[in-house]
Amino acid sequence: MSPFEHGEVYVLDDGGEVDLDLGNYERFLDIKLTSDNNITTGKIYQSVIDKERRGDYLGKTVQVVPHITDAIQEWIERVAMIPVDGKAGPADVCVIELGGTIGDIESMPFIEALGQFSYRVGTGNFCLIHVSLVPVLNVVGEQKTKPTQHSVRGLRGLGLTPHILACRSTMALDQNVKVKLSQFCHVTEENIITLYDVPNIWHIPLLLRDQKAHEAILKVLNLMGKAGQPALEEWTSRAAICDKLHEPVHIAMVGKYTGLSDSYLSVLKALVHASVFNRKKLFVDWVPASDLEDATAKENPDAYKAAWKLLKGADGILVPGGFGDRGVQGKILAAKYARENRIPFLGICLGMQIAVIEFARSVIGLQDANSTEFDPNTRNPCVIFMPEGSKTHMGGTMRLGSRRTYFQVMNSKSAKLYGSKSVIDERHRHRYEVNPDMVACLEKAGLSFAGKDETGRRMEIIELPNHPYFIGVQFHPEFKSRPGKPSPLFLGLIAAACGELDAVFLGNGIQRNIPNGVGNHTAKIKAYQNGIATKATNALPDGVYSNGNGVYL
Ligand code: GLN
Repeated sequence: MSPFEHGEVYVLDDGGEVDLDLGNYERFLDIKLTSDNNITTGKIYQSVIDKERRGDYLGKTVQVVPHITDAIQEWIERVAMIPVDGKAGPADVCVIELGGTIGDIESMPFIEALGQFSYRVGTGNFCLIHVSLVPVLNVVGEQKTKPTQHSVRGLRGLGLTPHILACRSTMALDQNVKVKLSQFCHVTEENIITLYDVPNIWHIPLLLRDQKAHEAILKVLNLMGKAGQPALEEWTSRAAICDKLHEPVHIAMVGKYTGLSDSYLSVLKALVHASVFNRKKLFVDWVPASDLEDATAKENPDAYKAAWKLLKGADGILVPGGFGDRGVQGKILAAKYARENRIPFLGICLGMQIAVIEFARSVIGLQDANSTEFDPNTRNPCVIFMPEGSKTHMGGTMRLGSRRTYFQVMNSKSAKLYGSKSVIDERHRHRYEVNPDMVACLEKAGLSFAGKDETGRRMEIIELPNHPYFIGVQFHPEFKSRPGKPSPLFLGLIAAACGELDAVFLGNGIQRNIPNGVGNHTAKIKAYQNGIATKATNALPDGVYSNGNGVYL
């Protein structure tokens, strides 16, 4: 999956590189999924081919129906039994998201498999919620039911009957529209849920509850009376808090900007979690890394000026992960700016690596210091290929999934933010790492390696002790951030960007503040001096505001 075509690659604890939808499930339900929770056509075909090679089919003709469709059903039934919420025993209900659009070639075997499955498990054991679009014609505000009618007809033709319609639209559906949909689609009116636009995504569980979507589902599954009322107190207060935020915090996100902000979805979500927790209204200022480079100053001076203006106007700078050398020099310049001007900085994965390169170049004076990813022949390789697997193959050589970090410096900002734990587990996805042979030299020059792996050879966290907040991490803390439990390092970045980091440290890391949030304490509030940053007034869903370069969430 290319992150710039498909959105970010989400990483699970077990190292599964999966669709970003799984991130939404983990965040909303606060669960831990495994790579088996992500079924793909490739995985299914692979398993059928493996079975055939093993001789499991005993020379029979292997076909999409029944072999592929059986494999899909077996997969679902096997994975449904694996607990994901930390509790013992399987869940009561398994949610299967069948992505795509009715009629897609890719999803055909899955639709057929689910048709067979629903028939096999029978009434009361299968609830089909069909998500469809109800466009609203702008001029007259008319809500059009035709697309839903068509897709329901398509579904029925493929052997699936929806029990509930979840209609995506800008406004709540008019009653007469529901009546019409009910008649044409044979779904009762109370089972037609309208998913209209809301100011932030945290309203959605409330919106579903208000329309009694849970009751509709429970009725279809014969679970009425077994389930309690939805426990949505935390969602309610978070959604309300999010709507009322007004004190701004501007974070410059220095990445490969391509217009598809889904490429950095988890980082954005983690910034939102931390900002809401800190009671701040987040503005993400997208800075295309290559626009900060000298070459752009000549080729496109306006873009160069705009990029630097945004960077300099930000309260904090974040350089996210990335691959390939485009924009690397710009990211290095951003880290240098943050280091020299004492601007709060968080570098994630590649963001940490470029911070190390910058430090080696500017502070130690190693002009050609580089990562061997970008210059295989550099005389000062401060970041090198340290695969856990093959040294010659790209595929399957990444260090992936949850790995343990051991804090080396207990009074470091990162250790304190993590509640002074001695070890933490975070998710990884990288091939390159700080060259262990250069660590002593970097340390001597003042770079602190606050966290390492169990061997002490892999550097996990860097910090500049004399800087207000300059942290780089080899892992991706964004994947484990949750709405009510923001990732400590994002929380630290936002707090530092607002001049409130000391107040966070007065307690014992963020633990102290859960669940009421950091906003409860009295804190020094840095005067907002961000006049030069682009002023954005266009509120985007989910409490994120941007410089208008990207539409997201
Ligand atoms: N390209 C770098 C590596 O492979 C960083 C990867 C990342 O940021 N996820 O190590």
